[in-house]
Amino acid sequence: MGTKISRRKFLKLGSIAAFSPFVRLGDTVKVSQKAPDPVDYGVERRVPLRCRMCAQQCPAIGVVKDGRLIKLEANPHLPYSGICGRSRSTPAALYNPDRLKYPLLRVGKRGEGKFKRISWDEALERIASVLRKYRERGEPEKVVYFPRFTSAAGLDKPFWHLYGTPNILSYADTCHSAGHDWGLGAYFGHPMTPGAFWMDYPNARFGVLAMRNPAGGLCVYQFGTLFGEGRRNGVRLVAVDVRFPNEAVEGAGRKWLPIRPGTDGAFHLALAHEIVKRRGYDQEYLIKETNACMLIDPETLEPYAPEIQEKVDPKTKKKKKHVRYRVWDQAQNRAVFKDEAQKPALRGEFTVEGRKVITAFEAIVQALEKYTPEWAEKITTIPANEIRAVAEELIKGKPRVFVDTGWYSERYGNVMRQFHSLGLVNTLLGVWEKKGGVGGIPKVKLHGPLPKVPKPKALQITKYYQKKKGYPFLNPKAGRRFAFEALRTGEPYEPKVIFAMGQNFIGGSAGSPEMTKLLDKVELIVCMTPFMDESCLYADIILPDTLFPERDEALHFKFKQSMPTVAMHMKAVEPPFEARPGSWVILELARRVLQPEEFEKYFGEFARGGWEVGWRRQLEGLEKKHPGLTLERLKREGVWYGKQSYKIKKKTYTGEVEIFSLLFLEKWKKLKAEGHPHADHAHPLPLWVPPFWWEEAQGKLKEDEFILCTGFSPLNSFTGGQTRNNPLLLEIWKEIGVDRVWIHPEKAQKLGISDGDVVEVFPAHNPRAVARARVWVTPLVHPEVLFSYYGVAPGIYPQLKRYLAFMPEYGVNINHFSKFHFAPLQGGHATQDVIIKVRRV
Ligand code: SF4
Repeated sequence: MGTKISRRKFLKLGSIAAFSPFVRLGDTVKVSQKAPDPVDYGVERRVPLRCRMCAQQCPAIGVVKDGRLIKLEANPHLPYSGICGRSRSTPAALYNPDRLKYPLLRVGKRGEGKFKRISWDEALERIASVLRKYRERGEPEKVVYFPRFTSAAGLDKPFWHLYGTPNILSYADTCHSAGHDWGLGAYFGHPMTPGAFWMDYPNARFGVLAMRNPAGGLCVYQFGTLFGEGRRNGVRLVAVDVRFPNEAVEGAGRKWLPIRPGTDGAFHLALAHEIVKRRGYDQEYLIKETNACMLIDPETLEPYAPEIQEKVDPKTKKKKKHVRYRVWDQAQNRAVFKDEAQKPALRGEFTVEGRKVITAFEAIVQALEKYTPEWAEKITTIPANEIRAVAEELIKGKPRVFVDTGWYSERYGNVMRQFHSLGLVNTLLGVWEKKGGVGGIPKVKLHGPLPKVPKPKALQITKYYQKKKGYPFLNPKAGRRFAFEALRTGEPYEPKVIFAMGQNFIGGSAGSPEMTKLLDKVELIVCMTPFMDESCLYADIILPDTLFPERDEALHFKFKQSMPTVAMHMKAVEPPFEARPGSWVILELARRVLQPEEFEKYFGEFARGGWEVGWRRQLEGLEKKHPGLTLERLKREGVWYGKQSYKIKKKTYTGEVEIFSLLFLEKWKKLKAEGHPHADHAHPLPLWVPPFWWEEAQGKLKEDEFILCTGFSPLNSFTGGQTRNNPLLLEIWKEIGVDRVWIHPEKAQKLGISDGDVVEVFPAHNPRAVARARVWVTPLVHPEVLFSYYGVAPGIYPQLKRYLAFMPEYGVNINHFSKFHFAPLQGGHATQDVIIKVRRV
């Protein structure tokens, strides 16, 4: 079986998607589609929009002919323009007969998947009456809203806040959440999401792909195109991955190092060890730009005699701590504040007023001593000489090198430490904000499409767990499973209504079998989505959503790229049957639930003028600062972009890149004083912390045990029907074997499993949760790993197949198997951190 499909074949399939007989177009044309405007016949219309086949929102052009979307193209008005294979399958998603067509009401038990058709009016009134009840009781916070592929962006949050609930909980805890964000954020003093950095592949000499596969995974705009340019420019690459990331490492100067799952932190620590041992760090950068010279007490790790000021930020009015610290000035041979020093010492131990002090860098060097490549080899299975070779390449090429700052990361309980050590390597090499290194993503912040609404007063569930339950790094905007923890414990209160818009909170959450058992405590579950999913099976009301070409949307500015960009999204075609956009639903609920004067004050103008009003509000006053950023240009070209930038915002206490994080020090001390069992996850010095599975298996898996690792391909993503139930992608998947699990030949032989066998896959802790998959026996996977593409099949919810005819029968969704556990201190999903078994059918 091959893992690739030819470009020609893909494009051919793409071009027939809108007309292919397997899409059963007759269903939709006859009943649902509004007749195309007669002036449209035979003419191609091009509409600026943003692709939503995954979450990246790449600016694109929808090509419409005879009232139907026939294809998506990259937006040509961008210097880095591109769309991926998934986006080319948009017509097959749009004209898929499995689209949800009408509002549905549950008639069977929750989970059974039995529903009857109801009218929109009945659906909305049923929802509104429950919402009114909780508002009138003074308990609006008991309503929890889960957005993801929301079709009401810009309107939903103001509505729920006006309604009175602070519980708007995104999906980020399954994706990057605080493990990535604070592991790297420690160096900059604020959370750094995957959307905070860009890798300068075109100008880099060498890169390590440790936590991302930019070619074989997801993102295109702009990371994929930068990556492609880098490859054409000859960037050398090493990919550290549990599976062979084919597209990323093909060609000369590129290599794959298979790694044991969840041990990337050990690899990074050994790199740091080697960089320090060979004095391969950027001394000037460390002295000037970081707090490496800070004098600290070697016992308590506290800075020596700092000056601490609290300043009020003129913009936010929030208090901000500023730390002025002392260094050892080699010119004066004494300790002085850094801004007074002529020649600060980077390393060393000194005596100041009878006290022993060392530099923060000295403490880091000492902490790294034990993390030799030989030590890391035992943990990661990567040979020590390979680790040394990677370190050498990094040292030689600095600062035009990097360890890629990574992507979907919430895979293991130790993820925050993994990213902390990754950040250390990049800081030692001085690659931040450098050409050929790592840049910060610049953004133009737009206004909301509605006037600003007051914030709800009630306590947010996630804030309770952040402040009171030992998750100080939890991102309160994410953490959707804490709503289920609240259901389990009753703390701080039990949610009574779940409203999910484009978020498959069951299929997309680690520990979903445990979560479904808690749903009995919820009075009303509403799911709005274009396709049935695992969460819909438990819904009381299902609302048929539009797909992105069928609606206008708010302007968007959060792109993962090197230039500030704003992009338009306009409706290209009519929605099918009774599908409606979320913005319409939110407006209808606002009308029915809010007081008339509240509605008029915040929604009135929008309700009368539509998105034209919203877009103008979003851009108010911005053209002065950003010439050319006008609505007219956005409507015409679809995008506006500014200048490329490398700058990374710092909000640390010292105002520098903190190689020794004072915020981590503060949290670590507090957690230790409280006796938190995982306080060391916030340790300010380099530290190896194993994943959950390692502790459970005491570092050694049995012969029939695996770690199930999941990944994307450019042709699949997520647990949404637009990709996993897509007739075009299904055809292509047959070629890449998307329904297969990859098993290493050594392990397959021991288990008597052959290529093409069908196996049952189940977690060791719950042998009744069983999914079936075909096997690909291949050396392109680490022997301890069972690799599968992400979320492609019905898995342990076979009843889904009734609604999703184009979903592959076999395949595995990791979320069905993982435990309902939380990554320490930050509350992420630790999706893959669970032991899996396999048996032949
Ligand atoms: S990466 Fe691909 S699927 Fe995702 S938004 Fe961009 S073009 Fe669409």
